[in-house]
Amino acid sequence: MSSQIKNVTILGAGTMGRGIAQIFAAHGFNVWLVDVRKDALENAKKRITESLKERFLYGLIKEDPNTIISRIHFTQDVKDAVINSDFVIEAVPEVLGVKKSVLKTIDKIAPSNLIIASNTSGLSISKLASFTRREDKFIGMHFLNPPLTMQLVEITKGDNTSDETVNIIMELTRKIGKEPVLIKKDFPGAIVNNIIGMIFLQAFWPVASNEHKVEEIDASYRFKGGFPAGPFEVMDLIGLDVINSSFVPSMKYLIGSKFDFIAEMIKKLVNTNKLGVKTGEGFYKYPEPGVFINQPLTRREGLKVSFVEFYALPINSAVNLLAKEISSKEEIDKAFRLGYLYPIGIFELADTIGIDVIVNKLNELKNKRSISLYEPHEILKEMVKDGRLGIKVGEGFYKYSVKKEQRNKIAIRREEENLWLIFNDLLVSNRDLINELENILLEDTKDVKMIIFDVDNTSIRSSLPQKIDKDAVNRYKELIETLRQIKIPKIAILKGRFFNESLLFSLLADIRIADIYSTFGFLGYPREEISEIRGNLVPFIGLTNSNELLMNERVIGSIEAFDIGLVNMVGFTDELEFLARSYARKISARS
Ligand code: NAD
Repeated sequence: MSSQIKNVTILGAGTMGRGIAQIFAAHGFNVWLVDVRKDALENAKKRITESLKERFLYGLIKEDPNTIISRIHFTQDVKDAVINSDFVIEAVPEVLGVKKSVLKTIDKIAPSNLIIASNTSGLSISKLASFTRREDKFIGMHFLNPPLTMQLVEITKGDNTSDETVNIIMELTRKIGKEPVLIKKDFPGAIVNNIIGMIFLQAFWPVASNEHKVEEIDASYRFKGGFPAGPFEVMDLIGLDVINSSFVPSMKYLIGSKFDFIAEMIKKLVNTNKLGVKTGEGFYKYPEPGVFINQPLTRREGLKVSFVEFYALPINSAVNLLAKEISSKEEIDKAFRLGYLYPIGIFELADTIGIDVIVNKLNELKNKRSISLYEPHEILKEMVKDGRLGIKVGEGFYKYSVKKEQRNKIAIRREEENLWLIFNDLLVSNRDLINELENILLEDTKDVKMIIFDVDNTSIRSSLPQKIDKDAVNRYKELIETLRQIKIPKIAILKGRFFNESLLFSLLADIRIADIYSTFGFLGYPREEISEIRGNLVPFIGLTNSNELLMNERVIGSIEAFDIGLVNMVGFTDELEFLARSYARKISARS
């Protein structure tokens, strides 16, 4: 029972140890914080005191900071600490020899029923347990950095850890206000660090090959993917010395000499003391050492980087964890949400992107990079074979409510509460389509939270100049009026050529997502119509750009359309659905 644990020893008063000590003390435990270095203990005391005062000031804790700090004994005397404790966590450096000697010492001193946990990031829990004579009472308890704010704690069961130990530590983790995720089998790196390794590898490759810049990768990650920080920003925070000593050897082990050119790039930074935030410069520059600032990245920088390409490999690695029964699908998703501060789990993300899209990407990358790591996992291949392609079909890793119906020209897909209308050739002359679209909008949008127009104007028909007949234009204007009256938020996916009325139609969507190869313009408009059309355009792109399109009949591509504010986002064809679902999820969450 975790209620028997009242006194806790934490070994190592560094980045992790002092944070963990603060968490336990703030939850009423008596804490012995041990370090071999006196200065580390003094620094820990100072940092914990400051942090507690700040948290008290912001109302995050109610108890007087002095009372909390009085529960922490800062000491170099490991014996005194362990004898007085009911539970020990080691957070000494990630060096096997150091951990071995510390664990042997604790094991000798501590009563035989005391549980020992390790905060290791990447060492085997079973191996560490073997340094003690209590393998059943040894467990992994991996807090994330910064421990105070990150909710997730990965609890790893070693080969011989007893179920009782697991239950006690799961309960204890909840007691200190954290969310435990159980790693059922000892697997170094558990969930978060294994997935992050693949994220970093995928980020490095195009940069080290001069295909993309660091800023472009991070911008795609942030603005297309919706993550709070890009991988290079995260690495600067972690410290490139840590990346060099943990990520580099594990990747070298996985992919051998093919990793050398990336290892070289990291080594160069480390050798010139560019270690990231801690030294004031890493991939980015910081105002001073230790001060992190958000990089002033723009959405535009990430437009030409495929986010889907990024996530194919991390998803493949998560599937591998699932296949090895490291943890359940739900628990891996929970770890991903909490570990990466993302609204959905990695399998939910896979379902959102589409399993077929991921498998295609992996095959493409395998051919390009010639490493077996990109071989799509059997589970993914099976899913594609069985047609379990994700949200779009109603089943992937999870099940979704999806109803499909083919009308004459329009395919309707009800994905949960979102109505997808999928059609080709949105043209003035396509009268049947316009009639059908208007009927659906008037009759089938009850209880719909979001309308997504998925328009494919890539056919030859769409590229031919349209004869503008007055009747067709008027009918089109009626459709646009109907659309204007429907107050449900609308997203448009625009693939192909959007000229004249089809461009005006798209302007009635709240969010426009353009395929990177799409084009936009106004061709062949009679001069007397221009001022009316211009009235519709100016609020979006201003007078100068409107005249450029209308009077000069300039046809522009997606990136320029983004630059002048005609579209919200630009993506590659295989990431458009993902982008639409991401926008839809955000908009729905608000209403
Ligand atoms: P750190 O270097 O900041 O702190 C380690 C502390 O341990 C130092 O103060 C050192 O003086 C002390 N120490 C060394 N030998 C000792 C001994 N024999 N007895 C007592 N204290 C001793 O390291 P950290 O970043 O806090 O990492 C600690 C552990 O937590 C590692 O296993 C690491 O992999 C893991 N971890 C780190 C992070 C992170 O982002 N820093 C995140 C999760 C887990």
